[in-house]
Parts: sequence; structure tokens; C-alpha cells
Amino acid sequence: MNDDLRQALRGCVGADGWLDAEAVAQRGAGVFRADRLQACALVRPRCTQELSAVMALCHAHRQPVVPQGGLSGLVRGADAAPHELIVSTERMCTIEAIDPVGRTATVQAGVVLGSLRDAVQAQGLHYGVDFGARDSATIGGSIATNAGGNSVIRYGMTRESVLGLEVVLADGTVLSSMNRVLKNNSGFDLKHLFIGSEGLLGLVSRAVLRLHEAAGPPRTVLLACDSFEQVLALLRHLDRAFSGRLGAFEVMWRDYFELAVNGSPSGRPPLGSIAAYQVLAEVVGTDDDALEAALADAQALGHFADAVLAASLEQRRALWALRESVMLTFRHGPDFAFDVSMPLADMSAYAERVRAAVKARWPAGHCWIFGHLGDGNLHISIAVGSGDMQTQQLIEALVYEPLRELGGAISAEHGVGLSKKAWLPVSRTQEELALMRQLKRSLDPLGLLNPGKMFEAVA
Ligand SMILES: Cc1cc2nc3c(=O)[nH]c(=O)nc-3n(C[C@H](O)[C@H](O)[C@H](O)COP(=O)(O)OP(=O)(O)OC[C@H]3O[C@@H](n4cnc5c(N)ncnc54)[C@H](O)[C@@H]3O)c2cc1C
Repeated sequence: MNDDLRQALRGCVGADGWLDAEAVAQRGAGVFRADRLQACALVRPRCTQELSAVMALCHAHRQPVVPQGGLSGLVRGADAAPHELIVSTERMCTIEAIDPVGRTATVQAGVVLGSLRDAVQAQGLHYGVDFGARDSATIGGSIATNAGGNSVIRYGMTRESVLGLEVVLADGTVLSSMNRVLKNNSGFDLKHLFIGSEGLLGLVSRAVLRLHEAAGPPRTVLLACDSFEQVLALLRHLDRAFSGRLGAFEVMWRDYFELAVNGSPSGRPPLGSIAAYQVLAEVVGTDDDALEAALADAQALGHFADAVLAASLEQRRALWALRESVMLTFRHGPDFAFDVSMPLADMSAYAERVRAAVKARWPAGHCWIFGHLGDGNLHISIAVGSGDMQTQQLIEALVYEPLRELGGAISAEHGVGLSKKAWLPVSRTQEELALMRQLKRSLDPLGLLNPGKMFEAVA
């Protein structure tokens, strides 16, 4: 970066909005990561106007830019090279308005997901997006990655919760589509171009989010199933019984649940023993009697073997802590984590195929499977004792190749970033990739926004 640009950017964001390369290198590269950030500098604008001025300067000087939110992304989408400038939204963290009548929240991009959830809850409202990184991830990052999470089965992905969006384009233009109404078919709905675009087409600066009435505490139940057929029957049964009010349907395969239980404070399984599949289901807007009645019917139909209802908030948290024990996989050495989706009908065979392939090649290896089954989304963590590039390539092929014939996704919710870039053609056709490149060229002709992520700009 030349001195002129350095001075101009500093002038734009102020001394406390600027970190030089040495200061950047003191910062951790992200959640779960041991390495440090790198970049030629980092700027922290406070508002859209500052962000726009930063981008106009970078455009004039052809300075590549990497947007960063809470750095909780799992695909190295916010990694910067030494010559790139990091634009962090950490000081754009104002909740501008919560409208209880229109049921919307207007926020800056750097607001942390958990803070927004708490703030709207205090007004009897609910934001439908939630996931394990809620205390780090920002609204801007969750929009840029179209994050999913634990309640997709009820509220959809982040896309479904975004009513309006403000984006700063590569040349500094502010594109404001801060729509606040549910229905707006007045021409192209441009926000969808940017949701899930991982910072390649523009920087999210503000958003209007859809809220819902808080439905009171959910009812949470852990169920043990001996077969995958039971799991699928249970999903349909609960969905039918509580149409639209099933708030989560998470499944943990035996190995993952054993890992979670062994790492839990009690060290004991909540149901006494561990079954082939444990389902963590949540229903909102109901009471214990209705849930117990639906479960009694399900048991009579043979849809599960055993169940325990969370009797308190503490018990609910303990059950969710088991589901969110993914960090424990790191205790077994280098770990390769995947986030894939496929049609539910193919899920069991796919999971067994991957597990068998891992065990055949690395008999002492681990293959932990769990995830948002109600959304057709599995998380797979594989540890085989080695983390080298060759092992990584072998494992990636085991996980991703079978998805081709199933029409599955190499990234169900975490995005592509750098980590999954090489595998994008498994899930996207040549024509789709060509149109993505064309869109990138028309919105960012100089290739300054998050360069090298998701796909190569030139085929
Ligand atoms: C424990 C844990 C659990 C998780 N669970 C889930 C889950 O269930 N579902 C799920 O979907 N994800 C999950 N994630 C992944 C991650 O939290 C999400 O991808 C999240 O949306 C990233 O937000 P962030 O603010 O941390 O973004 P970052 O990690 O900082 O950035 C992510 C991407 O967004 C871009 N970006 C960031 N801010 C902006 C902006 N303002 N404008 C344009 N581009 C921007 C970055 O360049 C990068 O490409 C989990 C992560 C962890 C650590």
C-alpha cells in the first residue's frame, strides 16, 4: 500500500480506526484457529459513510480488500494475504431500531448475533437465526454467508430473515435497499445477490431483519432411535403433530454422542445408554401435555426407543451442550470438518459409505457425524492422526465425491471461502459457475473484493 493511500485511509477512519501490519499480526485469525491474521493494514469504519469513503479510496488505488466480521467462519473466507487490506465491521455495531409493530430490527453489519437476539428478546420478540458461534458471529458475516443454524427447519436460512439490505459496492457506491415490508415485488430483489456472496460482490453495511413474536420457552426432548428409519418416521410424526412449530430436529450418530457424553460434566448419557441415533428435538408454542401426547403416539408407532424431556432451562442447556460439543473432536489430533447436505432419503447410506471408507483406510480413525438432520444437513468430523495435505485430499474426496451423484451440496451452510473452492464444481454446473464469474466481473470489474475466494475470477 502506498503512503498516499495509507494517509488517506487513516484520515478517513481516524487513528483509532486504523491498525498497521504489526498490530494486525497480533490478532488471532479466528475461532478455532491458532494462527495470526496478516494484512497490510486493517481499517475499522464506524458507519456507512466511512465505509463508502474507504472503498472509494481503495478503488481509486486498486487496493484489494477483505471484509471481516466476527471471524467465526469455518472456510477461511475472511483470510487476507499480506498485501490485502482488512475492512472490519467491529465498530459498526449499533442496533439502530427495533420496531415491535412492524416486527423488524435495523442494525449495522457488525452487530453480534447473540447481542441482537438478547436485545429483541427483551422486547418480547425473536430473531429466527441462531447457531453455536452466536457470541462471535456478526449480522454482516451471517448475511454474507447466508448462515443456517439450529432453527432453519422453522425460520429458514438467514436469507429468509433479511427484509432489507444496504451494501457498499467495490467503488464505494452505497446501494440502499432497506426495505421493511414482507411483500415487495417491485422489480428485482437485489439483496439476494449479496446474501451468501461471501463478500465477493459488496460489503454489507446495514440490514433490516425480520422478527417474530417470542413464542415462550421451547419444549426440548432427547430421543433415542435404533434405526435411521425410526429417525425419519419421527421427523414426519413431529412435523405433522406440530405443523410449523418444530423448532429444531438435530441428530447425533452414536460415535459423536459418545464423544459428547464423555466430555460432559456428568460423563453419563441422559438416557442411561447410547443408541445408534440420538435426536434432539424442540417444539415452540406448545406445552408439556401436548408434547407428551405426541410422543406417546410416536412411541406406540415404534418411532423411538426412549426419550427424556428437559424439565428446566438448565436441563435444556445441558442437552444442547451435548449437541454443541464439536470442539471435543479437536482433542483427537488434526481434524477435518465438513458441512454437507443431500436428500434425506440418501442420508443414511451416504453416512455409512463415508464412515466405512474412513475405517477401511484408517482403522483407528474417527468419523463423527451429527447435524441439522431436519434440514438435510450433516456435519462430519474426521480425525485419522495426520493433518497433512495428502491426507486432506484423500478425505475430501471420500466426503465430496459421493455427493455428485446424489445432487448434494459440498457446503450446506458454511460457504466456500478458500477451503472448499476446489470442490465447488461438484455442486455447481459449468453454466452456473460462468454466470457467477460474470456477476463478479460486472459488480467488481477490478477484482478488488475478497480476491481468490469461492472460485477463480477467470476460468
Ligand atoms: C462453534 C461454531 C458453530 C457454527 N455453527 C454454524 C451453524 O450452525 N450454521 C452456520 O451457517 N454457520 C455456523 N458457523 C460458521 C460461522 O459462524 C458463520 O459462517 C457466520 O455467519 C460467520 O460470521 P462472522 O461474522 O464470524 O463472519 P467472518 O468469519 O468474519 O466472515 C465470513 C465471510 O463473510 C465475509 N464477510 C464478513 N462480514 C462481511 C460484511 N459485512 N460484508 C460482506 N462480507 C462479509 C467474509 O469476507 C468471509 O467471507 C459456526 C462457527 C462456529 C465457530
